[in-house]
Amino acid sequence: MAYKITDECIKCGACAEECPVDAITEGEETYVIDPELCIDCGACADICPVGAPIEDE
Ligand code: SF4
Ligand code: SF4
Repeated sequence: MAYKITDECIKCGACAEECPVDAITEGEETYVIDPELCIDCGACADICPVGAPIEDE
């Protein structure tokens, strides 16, 4: 399982700096998480001001 970033993302970049495995990069509309790298730690969800990162089912 991995986290994913929803359309709520305002591209502040805070999550990318917080991610311990550098799984988050800037995409066109939102920041995006590479599910192959994500270790499901939840740090991105904790720091995001708009709650955009959520657990992907
Ligand atoms: Fe990175 Fe953790 Fe968020 Fe996965 S859950 S993208 S490892 S900060
Ligand atoms: Fe988007 Fe939230 Fe990451 Fe900021 S912290 S870039 S709003 S997902």
